[in-house]
Amino acid sequence: QATDSVIDFTIKILLLGDSGVGKTSLLTRFAHDSFDEKVASTIGVDFAVKKLSVYDKRVKLTVWDTAGQEKFRTLTSTFYRGAKGIILVYDVSRPDTLRHLEEQWMRELELYGTEADAVRMVVANKVDVGDARRVSWHEGSDFARRHGCLFVETSAKTNIAVANAFEELVLKILETP
Ligand code: GDP
Ligand code: MG
Repeated sequence: QATDSVIDFTIKILLLGDSGVGKTSLLTRFAHDSFDEKVASTIGVDFAVKKLSVYDKRVKLTVWDTAGQEKFRTLTSTFYRGAKGIILVYDVSRPDTLRHLEEQWMRELELYGTEADAVRMVVANKVDVGDARRVSWHEGSDFARRHGCLFVETSAKTNIAVANAFEELVLKILETP
């Protein structure tokens, strides 16, 4: 139907993971197509809005970033409420950040009772680091599969697969009844 093309879906997406894994850099790259070496650590929850066309639909994404509170584990239920997509980010040069996705961030999701139909994606960021890589593609994708998550490797710095990751997530959300 012709009117479908003017319908806007608004989809809330969360970025979660340890401090320093590159959440803000991924958001900046995706929303503004840029990368700042020094990302200001601001206080308070922040989000960016990005419009996409998917199939014949216009989709508005609100991507929520933790703006530093992840260090203090003071995220509140407002942050989690109504999210349809959850991006769990780790840094391929720091294996502890992958371990914490399981030990900390997935537990927080259970604790805050996020939407049962929320689509989850594990993002392995900083794949540009070369010899400093400590987590292989296999370890990451195995982890994601075991937890029923999509999996994408990215670099916010050199712009590898950042838009792809968000698009894949949105496609999956739109497919989920
Ligand atoms: P956040 O704490 O998860 O929001 O992480 P930031 O986005 O603040 O990034 C933390 C640090 O990692 C900063 O110094 C970034 O410049 C750097 N960084 C972020 N993404 C990448 C990446 O893809 N590759 C590399 N090499 N460094 C990155
Ligand atoms: Mg940040």
